[in-house]
Amino acid sequence: MKNNRTLKKELFKYSILYAIFMIMIFSISFSIIFYYSRIENINTILKYKNLSLKYFIEGEFIKIYNSVKFLSKNKKVRNLLTLDESAKKDVLRLYKTLSEIDKSINYIYSGYKNKSLVINNYIPPINFDPTTRPWYQAAIKSNPKISDGVLYQEMKSKEWLISVSKVLVDDQNKISGVIAVDYSLDRILHILNAKDKNLNTLFSYIIKLDGSFIAYKNKNFFGKKIFDIFHISIDFNKNKSGTFTYTYNNSKKLAYFNRIDAVGWVVITTVNMSEITSPIINKILVIIISISFISILLGWLYSRSLSKKIVLPLLNLKKDVEMVVKGHNLSNKIPKYPKNEIGAIASYIEQLTRSELYNKNKALQKANNQLAMMSITDQLTKLFNRRKIIEELENEKNRFTRYGKVFSIIMFDIDWFKQINDSYGHQAGDAVLQDIANITKKIFRITDTISRWGGEEFMILCPETSMEEAQVIATRLKTAVASHKFKINKKITISIGIAEYNSNKSIEELLKEVDDKLYVAKRRGRDVIVY
Ligand code: GH3
Ligand code: MG
Ligand code: MG
Repeated sequence: MKNNRTLKKELFKYSILYAIFMIMIFSISFSIIFYYSRIENINTILKYKNLSLKYFIEGEFIKIYNSVKFLSKNKKVRNLLTLDESAKKDVLRLYKTLSEIDKSINYIYSGYKNKSLVINNYIPPINFDPTTRPWYQAAIKSNPKISDGVLYQEMKSKEWLISVSKVLVDDQNKISGVIAVDYSLDRILHILNAKDKNLNTLFSYIIKLDGSFIAYKNKNFFGKKIFDIFHISIDFNKNKSGTFTYTYNNSKKLAYFNRIDAVGWVVITTVNMSEITSPIINKILVIIISISFISILLGWLYSRSLSKKIVLPLLNLKKDVEMVVKGHNLSNKIPKYPKNEIGAIASYIEQLTRSELYNKNKALQKANNQLAMMSITDQLTKLFNRRKIIEELENEKNRFTRYGKVFSIIMFDIDWFKQINDSYGHQAGDAVLQDIANITKKIFRITDTISRWGGEEFMILCPETSMEEAQVIATRLKTAVASHKFKINKKITISIGIAEYNSNKSIEELLKEVDDKLYVAKRRGRDVIVY
């Protein structure tokens, strides 16, 4: 049983070790695969999101630019300073119509060098001077081109707007003012920060080529530069698109950018690194747990089937061999063994143990029994020998000491036996001894111990027998011997002494007592009983 347990444990241990090895290999491989596929996946998402924003912004601003271009060529708009009130009304109507057509346009207005402003639905504050406004100055600076988007905060509504402006040139070929179209930054921000259903931390923002923020969800960044805040160093004049990483507010970010050449901006889409890695970690954990479970289950099944095929048959084999060694017969027990090498060994051992070991063991047992029997048996008469009866006498003495059971011994000697030998030969003497032994066996009980004391002297131990009872049996014996027809056709008699053990004396004393009585019997003329 112990060996079986050890083997089972060993099998289980190695199966589990194997399982752990498998878990490690699989986990590492899966982690690597997942990590790279996730990174690639995110990169693709970032790239396409960013690209679609680029096209969207490009589309939006080309529209605005076209509007600016169209208005800057309008004769009334250019020469308004020299025209009358009705012309101003026409211009206002034109602005209104255009802004109503395109919902992305917040305002269309023109400022002139005489500090006048032409605009719908807006009353400028007192002392308002359009020529000092950023959109006006940007147009002057970019002249004759259209200005890049200028970010500014509308004074009254505090709304952040991007204005695209262009210088107006009158028919005298002189700068008369600036036409501007405003686009709401909130509209862009809304699109830039639109939630992505796959990536929570994904958002986009816009910077100028010089790194200054235009559209960022944190409006405090407006006017500041990306290089100072995110500590990156990319020359957007040289790179059209690409990826970079940076750390802001202790979170590492992955970013993808695209230059929008039509407006001179860069749109950047970013996502937190943690959002890339945490699903990977979760996935890997799930994989490790499920692989662990499967591996341990497989390991357990593996060790179980191994122990069923190997350990249990070995155990049965061990039991069978043990049985045979102890001398039990296997003939009616056919153990089941698997059809593998163990089965073959079992079958060979079984055959071997049955034929050889078993037989040898049986013979040895028989010999042992015979030896044991011989050591207490007299060979001629097949009665017990002196050694055996002395042993039994000691036992009876102990029984008397413990239970007070009285017992008796009868000793007899064949009369004139020497003469029988002399007259009929030693063999005839032996036959007489055997005959007398048989007569004695018939007269005494199975519980009595009949022994050949030596030569032609016999001794019988009668447990739980008093002197009187012993006397009766002794008489029967004497009569039986005397009346027996021996082969030599001669009457043979015996002399008997009887002693009872009824007090604590030694066996030697008891034997001396009975021997003395037998001696007395001989002196009285033989064929008598003395007690
Ligand atoms: P009594 O006892 O009547 O005094 O006379 P006895 O002739 O029997 O006396 P004793 O004890 O002197 O003789 C015993 C004889 O028994 C001596 C021996 O030769 C013979 N004897 C002892 N053992 C055996 C035996 O195994 N076989 C035969 N045939 N004779 C034996
Ligand atoms: Mg004699
Ligand atoms: Mg004698």
